[in-house]
Amino acid sequence: MKHVLPRILRKMFCSGLIGCHGVFPAGAVNKAKLYLTFDDGPCPKHTPRILELLAHHEVSATFFCCGGLLEKYPDIACGIVKQGHMLGNHTFSHKIFTGISQSERESEITMCQQAIEQFQSGTRLFRPPQGLMSLSDFFWLLKYGYRIAFWTIDSLDSFQTSSEVIETRLKSCGGGNVILFHDDAELCVQVLKKMIPWWKAQGYSFGTID
Ligand SMILES: [Zn+2]
Repeated sequence: MKHVLPRILRKMFCSGLIGCHGVFPAGAVNKAKLYLTFDDGPCPKHTPRILELLAHHEVSATFFCCGGLLEKYPDIACGIVKQGHMLGNHTFSHKIFTGISQSERESEITMCQQAIEQFQSGTRLFRPPQGLMSLSDFFWLLKYGYRIAFWTIDSLDSFQTSSEVIETRLKSCGGGNVILFHDDAELCVQVLKKMIPWWKAQGYSFGTID
């Protein structure tokens, strides 16, 4: 039961009821912008392709990385930062918070933050694996100065579906949305190849969460 309340909280975040546009405390949200976010990397197979695509279209994004992977793939981490993207904390080893103790959860966050600070300092953005965390995690994060960043649209790129289904879904979302992708998902690259030019043709620009 202890995670029922956070599920409700997450729904409230994602629907914009609190923490406008998925982020708490909320910052300024530009309705002319879309906020692309990539979870679970860096991934040696796909992240470099995504970075290439973002650079080609001059798009900025936010990467919620796992600390262990940042340490394993420092060159990719440097590439993300060098291109002007933001790094966010997605725990050190992507353990789901419902299965570990409070002290393990805090250490997962702290260790990831230490990894992030080797590449980019001054950012304290956190997104829990699968969006699950307890209310005590929520207050712990605020106490240590983190902003908690969920999403408002899940692209579903990590599900067994087709790029057409995802594209149709994404075409219906308006400006100001925080879109969840996974940079270890094959579909992510396919979808971005089509969607970035489409979004640009609709007049959207792209922002980072910071
Ligand atoms: Zn994740």
